[in-house]
Amino acid sequence: MKTLVVGGAGYIGSVVVRLLLAEGHAVTILDDLSTGHSDSVPDGVELVVGDISTAGDVLRGNGFDAVLHFAAKSLVGESVVRPSLYWHTNVIGSRALLDAITEHEVPRLVFSSTAATYGEPDVVPITEDTPTRPTNTYGATKLAVDMMISNECAATPLAAVSLRYFNVAGAAWGAGERHTTETHLIPIALDAADGRRDKLDIYGDDWPTPDGTAVRDYVHVADLARAHVLALTAADPGEHLICNLGNGNGFSVREVVSCVEDVTGLPLPVAAAPRRAGDPARLVASADRAKARLGWEPEHDLRRMVADAWEFTRSR
Ligand code: UDP
Repeated sequence: MKTLVVGGAGYIGSVVVRLLLAEGHAVTILDDLSTGHSDSVPDGVELVVGDISTAGDVLRGNGFDAVLHFAAKSLVGESVVRPSLYWHTNVIGSRALLDAITEHEVPRLVFSSTAATYGEPDVVPITEDTPTRPTNTYGATKLAVDMMISNECAATPLAAVSLRYFNVAGAAWGAGERHTTETHLIPIALDAADGRRDKLDIYGDDWPTPDGTAVRDYVHVADLARAHVLALTAADPGEHLICNLGNGNGFSVREVVSCVEDVTGLPLPVAAAPRRAGDPARLVASADRAKARLGWEPEHDLRRMVADAWEFTRSR
């Protein structure tokens, strides 16, 4: 397929681009490089540096078969203090992209959605029918885009898939996590083990979980990438398919700490810190629908995520 990857110079986009190329798809990237990196773009791939609102210029007359949409602001804490930035970039930007997709009759869309659309569910594992009650601006903007996509699919032949990621980690095919502002547990823990940070703050050790630290569902970025390729052909025209992507297993912060110490062979200094605002105790996905509709099952475990992230960190 001829694909346009919007936000393809970022962490997840750049891994997906590598898999698309390996599977024989043609790739053009549109990225404004606000958080992505031009050196994450593989040789031979056309990079159009531009805002998402200019997607129509790229799509016009070029016969694209699919758009994969990764372009978004994604820092939960920042989203709460800067809602206007998040609504403009994530929602108004996606509206412009959807209009361009409809105008230029691109038949397929795969969108990066998030577990943050569910907020703090009463029941785990979380299915796609779990009520969506986002607790922060980031989750609200992603949910708004999911709703726009549903509306678009009801009115046009667009075949769309929203993939709701749980906690993405690891590295693959030379691409990994390089955020200027890092808030994620595994890269922070690796930096603390490596001495690039003095310690890891554990946000809360009195959660109602077996060891008192919060539980999350980690999924390897290579598994996630495979789900995107499968999603290209999973929806019917006029359908908006929503699928959770997680392992279906939860790991606590302390379990991640042990895994990091084990993989690196280094002691990881930790300190107890207050709970982070908006953090739920436990988020674990049911990935049954992804299995049924995409034929997807995660293949990599937590140890492999940590090992691959560690190798990527040390290579930089
Ligand atoms: N966490 C932590 N210390 C950190 C970063 C994260 O204790 O420096 C915890 C966080 O409270 C959550 C889990 O690790 O329970 C995963 O957080 P992350 O930011 O990686 O992803 P999130 O679940 O917030 O999307």
